[in-house]
Amino acid sequence: MRVIRTENLRKTYRGGTQALRGLDLEVHYGEVFGFLGPNGAGKSTTIELLLNFIRPTTGTASLFGRPAADPQTRQRLGYLPESVNLHAYYSGRGVLEFYGGLLGVERADRRRRAEGLLERVGLRDAAGRKISQYSKGMLQRLGLAQALINDPELLILDEPTSNLDPVARRDFRDILLELKAAGTTVFICSHILSEVESVCDRVAILQQGELKRAGTLEELSGTAGATVTVKHLPAGAIEALSATEARLTVRGGESTIACDSQTVLEDVERLLEERGVEVERVETRMQSLEEIFFGAIDRERTP
Ligand code: ADP
Repeated sequence: MRVIRTENLRKTYRGGTQALRGLDLEVHYGEVFGFLGPNGAGKSTTIELLLNFIRPTTGTASLFGRPAADPQTRQRLGYLPESVNLHAYYSGRGVLEFYGGLLGVERADRRRRAEGLLERVGLRDAAGRKISQYSKGMLQRLGLAQALINDPELLILDEPTSNLDPVARRDFRDILLELKAAGTTVFICSHILSEVESVCDRVAILQQGELKRAGTLEELSGTAGATVTVKHLPAGAIEALSATEARLTVRGGESTIACDSQTVLEDVERLLEERGVEVERVETRMQSLEEIFFGAIDRERTP
């Protein structure tokens, strides 16, 4: 069973925009899943379908093995939208107690959970203030507390750190790691690739309604480059290397050959083997999420 599963999910809006063109997605229990893609890729549409705010044109979306339209799924998930829109006349504490009530959290538990969450997101001192006086970052943190008020099994986050300063961003990441350690499944849409890279177990990259890549970072990451070290480099090999894109440095009794891609590395390895050159070591560098992302999307199609 999967926490989230979509099968051949399609959404065509009135006016003809094909926001999703047959999305198959699986999110496993307990993982932090990064959902990435340039603007217009269909990320918000996917979230809105999962939350049953809108209906698919065809295909299915399910949460916890039940159709997304099943109201019972709502009590098991928490959602933090990109722009947090809460009733301005409430205090931070009041918002949490109100939403706790809506989501069926027992009255006795509500106050205790609200206090715990306000502390956790760094809003304890502002808990009694009206949220009309909160900054964007404070609202975002309150939104996270609100999304956690029912102790959800699945947390859906849409651009959660866009309004946060670096300190709050780090705190936010720590909270995510705590949730992950406690077994909560997190589905996170973000443009901040370094952040996704540091917390996510798996990622999916979407473009114009189509899934481009999905998997763990190890699965998706190819070799970004490598440095080959050799001891004795015959003159013929030096000449042959100068015709490739590799960069040769001779230092002391050692030569290093820097290769900026897998293809260049393969050329160099072939060339050295043909000349019987003994390779001392090869140090490879794996692609970062940013390199995976740009390798996956077609930039011509980015609006
Ligand atoms: P993302 O969240 O990845 O930026 P969206 O899901 O918001 O992408 O949008 C996907 C595509 O669907 C875009 O081309 C967008 O303009 C279009 N779209 C989104 N919502 C609507 C809507 N309510 N009506 C018509 N087109 C929409």
